[in-house]
Amino acid sequence: MASAYDKLARILHLEYEQGCRDRAVIGGLDRFLAYWEREAQEESAQIEHSLPVGDIVRALADYGGMAAPERQAVIRRMLDALLADVAQPLAPNAMQSAEDTPTAEKDRSSSPEEVCPLPEAQRATRAEASQRLAAPGQGASRARRAVRRRAPAGGEVTLSSPITALRGVSTVTEKRLARLGLNSIRDLLYHLPRRYDDFTQLKVINRLTLGEDVSIAGIVSEVRTYRSRGGTVVTRCVLRDGSGAIEVSWFNQPFLEKQLPVGVEVVISGRVDEFLGRLTFTSPEWEPLERKLLHTGRLVPIYGLTEGIRMRWLRRLIRGVLDDWVPRITDPLPADMLKATSLTGLGRALEQIHFPDDAEQLEQARRRLCFDEFFLLQLGILRYRQERQSQTSWALEMPEGALERFSEGLPFELTGAQQRAIDAILGDLAKPAPMNRLLQGDVGSGKTVVAAAAILAAVRNGLQAAIMAPTSILAEQHYQTISSMLAEEPDIRSTLLVGSLPAAEKRRAQEEVASGEAQVAVGTHALIQKDVEFARLGLVVVDEQHRFGVSQRGALRAKAIDRQPHLLAMSATPIPRTLALTVYGDLDVSVLDEMPPNRQEIITAVRDHRSRERIYSFISAQVREGRQAFVICPLVEESDELDAKAAVSEHRRLQEDIFPDLRVGLLHGRVSADEKEQIMADFKAGAYHILVSTAVVEVGIDVPNATVMLIEGAERFGLATLHQFRGRVGRGEHASYCILLASDASPDGLARLRIMEETNDGFVLAEKDLEMRGPGDFFGVRQHGLPLLKIAKLSDTAILEEARAQAMQLYERDPELSQPEHQIVAASVRHFWAQQELS
Ligand code: ADP
Ligand code: MG
Repeated sequence: MASAYDKLARILHLEYEQGCRDRAVIGGLDRFLAYWEREAQEESAQIEHSLPVGDIVRALADYGGMAAPERQAVIRRMLDALLADVAQPLAPNAMQSAEDTPTAEKDRSSSPEEVCPLPEAQRATRAEASQRLAAPGQGASRARRAVRRRAPAGGEVTLSSPITALRGVSTVTEKRLARLGLNSIRDLLYHLPRRYDDFTQLKVINRLTLGEDVSIAGIVSEVRTYRSRGGTVVTRCVLRDGSGAIEVSWFNQPFLEKQLPVGVEVVISGRVDEFLGRLTFTSPEWEPLERKLLHTGRLVPIYGLTEGIRMRWLRRLIRGVLDDWVPRITDPLPADMLKATSLTGLGRALEQIHFPDDAEQLEQARRRLCFDEFFLLQLGILRYRQERQSQTSWALEMPEGALERFSEGLPFELTGAQQRAIDAILGDLAKPAPMNRLLQGDVGSGKTVVAAAAILAAVRNGLQAAIMAPTSILAEQHYQTISSMLAEEPDIRSTLLVGSLPAAEKRRAQEEVASGEAQVAVGTHALIQKDVEFARLGLVVVDEQHRFGVSQRGALRAKAIDRQPHLLAMSATPIPRTLALTVYGDLDVSVLDEMPPNRQEIITAVRDHRSRERIYSFISAQVREGRQAFVICPLVEESDELDAKAAVSEHRRLQEDIFPDLRVGLLHGRVSADEKEQIMADFKAGAYHILVSTAVVEVGIDVPNATVMLIEGAERFGLATLHQFRGRVGRGEHASYCILLASDASPDGLARLRIMEETNDGFVLAEKDLEMRGPGDFFGVRQHGLPLLKIAKLSDTAILEEARAQAMQLYERDPELSQPEHQIVAASVRHFWAQQELS
């Protein structure tokens, strides 16, 4: 049987074997010792040890706080003493009476192999003992076998080898894993846990409380399987530790009875449940107490799964791949960089991201993997930028007086910010390298007029300009605005090219563009269709540029012949600097940080459900004055379908119960793009008084008559998104209102919403958002062209800056990454960017 002393000896062995990292027992040695002391005290009433319990406890006190050498020394000392102690043959009667203690009772019937009975321990060398301590864990050893590389029939197995190169992965499994995007061994290494279950808390049985998530280690003292009256197969076992016993049940897993024979020591993790007034565990995770716990007693990785792939199986597979590959992974980062940044090595980072020793190690691992992503991203961007700058475009000069005439023709004065942006653009255009500029400006900051100035410059140099918007309504709006801005230039002909045009009109528009008769083409995706050709495209303007993918922007550029056209990308999403560096690191940026004067101040108010009635009568009053209102429904989930459902019922409620006399429109993500446009156009034309919409409501569309924006469940949106919604109103001459209805906000959530009341500055809100929520919600519904970052968050500013600095250093030394020591980095950059292109 395992006496308390024997148990301690085993644990100390294990700890020593594992490098004294205080990982041998879950929760740490100090914690174990508190529990052990009680057990050993009880036991010492029956068994005589030459080494008093108190001495041991004192020697090992504050083990957690000791440095590694100190730990080693104390363990060696203790082990010598304990082994000497164990070697004293014990009186048989002492053994007998030990039965009275709770642990001893079952230990006697346990299998000798599992609990390391004394006579064997006496003989055991330390190495042997620790061998045995490593427990014949069925699970893990099977997994290790499973992933051992197959005889390389088809050559050397590499990280890029298909998953079937792993033993135990059939072609059926391969297909299932492919659904998770897992095709190669590398993919498995980078299949990062979605989250971790924290089962590091090890408790003793008599300290368990209902409802807590914990781990316990115990010995199976009874097990039986039976069929319940309902027909369920129940495997019920009793687990004991020094403090007590608890019943644990699993359903429909009859094989468990064999895997959990009486006497085996297991760790189980799960939530403490209650049955007939007694605490119990129901279907907890379990595994034999062994060296490497995978499913219990630790930070347990939780992976994304798919049908036919089970969590435990995947954990074992990944564990096996780590065991196999981590020691052989070559770190792509040059050694000096690793040193300068004090980053964790790649192998260790991968190991720890899956099976973290603790939160600190996990954070280090994450930092390393984030760094990699940012670093590869930045290297690619630097390269891109360099390539762009070495291309040739047309150097354009704005003719004498043209700009003056243009601004004089406008119904307003340009703001200083607009002026500066136009200067920067004209500066770019004057160079023979293609312009690559992002124009950022909050909704209503007046980007269109800046684009019009650039268009004028292109046209006056004999080139064509194209402006692409994400929807037909926006394209039409631009078509009208730009035509009227260029009204002073009667020789300039614009044409509209959108998908919804009748075939004949579309053909005529295409002909005008192809012949060069139209110098300005305003349109949607229709502009990048195959059958669209330009006579001499020289400037490409992309509005709401984040709504387009890299390839779509590329496709429009590719319509230019001979040279690279100039590019002006526009975005209403205010982007903090860090984000801009990441997403648009290859662009120059102009910011319209000044609103045109005489803007309607939008009054923003945070309210809760008690104000609902008053809000509705306010909306009625606005409608009576001839105005219109938006009602945005809360985000239900990240599911268009559920959002749509909620919007449908909200629409019905408002139409039937609240505003039966008004016309209430409905817009959600489940209607086709054409219908969506139609609904927006109808709303703009005044067909509805109120438009109920999910978050899909179009950005950029101008409905000057709308004065109320009511956002339900406002706490569920990011500030940047709320700000976009708010920008839908206040676009006309009427005072406008944005009402944030927080139905279920925490105090923090409310405080966040109050920021909306305080500022109208999109950049301030964007920074706050990034700080408080990370960039996930940054772009509202969907964001194209954001890099595929699996682990890095755009709010990881410090890591981003570091990666960028390192990338620039490396780039300066070896821009082509041609030196031999940079070959792995070069390959990683290629791999990373190949994935980006696919997105
Ligand atoms: P954005 O595209 O940046 O959201 P727009 O270009 O649509 O903004 O401009 C919004 C409104 O502001 C338009 O009605 C435009 O005519 C007007 N506007 C633009 N610049 C000025 C200015 N300098 N002074 C006054 N009004 C302006
Ligand atoms: Mg705009």
